[in-house]
Amino acid sequence: MVDVLQLARKNILNLKPYASARDEFSGEAKIFLDANENAFGTPLTDVPAQNRYPDPHQRALKQKIAEIYGVKVEQTFLGNGSDEAIDLLMRIFGNPGKDAVVIMPPTYGMYKVCANINDLQVLQAPLTPEFQMDRSRLQQMFLPQARLLFICSPNNPTGNVFEKADIEFALQNFSGIVVVDEAYIDFAPELSVLPLINEYSHLVVLRTFSKAWGSARIRLGMAFTSPEVIGLMNKIKMPYNVSGLTQDVALKLLANKSRKQAYIEKIIEQRQWLRQELKKLKAVIEVFPSQANFLLVRFSDARAVFNYLMQKGIIVRDRSNQLHCDNCLRITVGTEEENVALIKALRNWENA
Ligand SMILES: *Cc1c(COP(=O)(O)O)cnc(C)c1O
Repeated sequence: MVDVLQLARKNILNLKPYASARDEFSGEAKIFLDANENAFGTPLTDVPAQNRYPDPHQRALKQKIAEIYGVKVEQTFLGNGSDEAIDLLMRIFGNPGKDAVVIMPPTYGMYKVCANINDLQVLQAPLTPEFQMDRSRLQQMFLPQARLLFICSPNNPTGNVFEKADIEFALQNFSGIVVVDEAYIDFAPELSVLPLINEYSHLVVLRTFSKAWGSARIRLGMAFTSPEVIGLMNKIKMPYNVSGLTQDVALKLLANKSRKQAYIEKIIEQRQWLRQELKKLKAVIEVFPSQANFLLVRFSDARAVFNYLMQKGIIVRDRSNQLHCDNCLRITVGTEEENVALIKALRNWENA
């Protein structure tokens, strides 16, 4: 087991965290005059009262999430999107101006931006042109200053899942924090490495409500890892980092998970249809296999297609400037009508 506490920045280990009013008292009481809230309520009539601070530890929600995800509450962190977890992890383990993070481009852009904000060097171990992990290039980046490794699986923008053996290779050879971002794993749940948090103290698995759960607007992300890392994340997070509105909606969502499953099945069905239709087009060179809710598509002239679609009011993501992604657009799977409209527009473009 990696001693994760030894990896943390000294100032974080020595930090005395802020204690909110609701940290100092959390039992039952009749009159709360401890947090300078407005006791008269919220000056709205069509919205439930919002005048009290939410539970800073999100106890009810964490309990439910831990139950559904098959983990312990002490292995669970909730944040303002998984982006919050990414930032907190960098701040816990990366000494600014000194340490580094390892990423495998092409991948999710936030890792690099967040590293830049935190003044951490970015070490790159590019994927192969088939978007697979290049173990030897990765191992070359396991330098002493490398404190965190980010593996996005399924990877954004490429859509492929990494082999469990590759992720275990990283876990066994890298003694910093290994973050596996599973934002899209609900579309291929059998390939999750979440159970490995019981074996590797330095593994952090990220999940989100923004994709399969259909709730990007509530901003709720999860990090599952060893209780030691959770303790550090809780120590430095803002006291009320998950709003009460978010906690309320999330609890309702968790009580309706069969509907989420139905959406996932529809999205996968639509992805398969979209993939077939795209492959029939002359302008399409390649549709990469995807285990997510989007497709990476190589066109003969991505920029021209992008501009044409935009004119027609259809916005996709141009990923052409990413490594190994020249002339590639990333297309999110939409509703049936949206996907039909996309294919129609592309056919018109070809025939124009
Ligand atoms: C969409 C996405 C997320 C989600 O971030 P939130 O802050 O939870 O909305 C995380 N990681 C990747 C790779 C994503 O594509």
